[in-house]
Amino acid sequence: MRHPLLKLCLTAVLLSCVAVPQFAGAADAPKLKALIVDGQNNHSWRTTTPILKAAMESSGRFTVDVATCPGKGPEVATFKPDFSKYEVIVSNYNGEDWGADTKKALEDYVGKGGGLVSVHAADNSFPGWLEYNKMIAVGGWGNRSDKSGPMLLWRDGKVEKVEKGGHGTHGKYFSFLVETRDTQHPIMKGLPAKWMHAKDELYATLCGPAENTTVLATAQSDVTHENEPMLMVINYGKGRVFHTTLGHADESMKDLGFVTTLNRGTEWAATGKVTIPVPENFPTEAAVVVWNPPAAK
Ligand code: ZN
Repeated sequence: MRHPLLKLCLTAVLLSCVAVPQFAGAADAPKLKALIVDGQNNHSWRTTTPILKAAMESSGRFTVDVATCPGKGPEVATFKPDFSKYEVIVSNYNGEDWGADTKKALEDYVGKGGGLVSVHAADNSFPGWLEYNKMIAVGGWGNRSDKSGPMLLWRDGKVEKVEKGGHGTHGKYFSFLVETRDTQHPIMKGLPAKWMHAKDELYATLCGPAENTTVLATAQSDVTHENEPMLMVINYGKGRVFHTTLGHADESMKDLGFVTTLNRGTEWAATGKVTIPVPENFPTEAAVVVWNPPAAK
């Protein structure tokens, strides 16, 4: 207790670090039902799914279930989550193709108005499934190439579709600036023009059908030196898709910028509106703001 002021300051910093923007609607408003799908990924889905779930639940806006695709090989065909029970599906899945009926179920679900969110390597998934690639607009790896469709690059103040060079790449794992490109979209309203994001992989040269897509935010790749899309929204049929390329690891997700855009993007995918506010301590150009999931009860 020799330094009570110091102790007070440390407490204030800690509190500001864990603040999560709260749903601003009526306390008795029904929560949105979200389903995270995982079970295969070249990333640590067992670590990151609980962070996604905690981030969404912390907003007060969602209840979150998880559907884990069992095993590999023939077992994958038994993966048949009931998408229709949910307002939004959040994919943390990068793995083997699902069965034809599950793929068709997702197409119908989104096509008829359901919400979908693609997180980081979920856009590596399903390179041969055209409708999925229409939902996510652009993806990487899995033999994606010029034939998959154009890249979406931000050049001279607007999005340019670039036909050659798409495949998916990233450079070193580092902290980088994200730049808002659509200040009027509900997900982006109130966010700063630029903010510092926690250490992450900066995806570049993603390619795909790239139809009905709005690029919301970009970052400059250390590989291509182009402004690559980080946050996107896509209209697929009557459905809405929010695509964040951010979120390689737990450290990348324990970031108030990631959490805020994830929650606002997921709410928008579910409803077409955003009521989850931008927190006052949203990161700035100068500094990342660390967010830690609340301790499990
Ligand atoms: Zn990654």
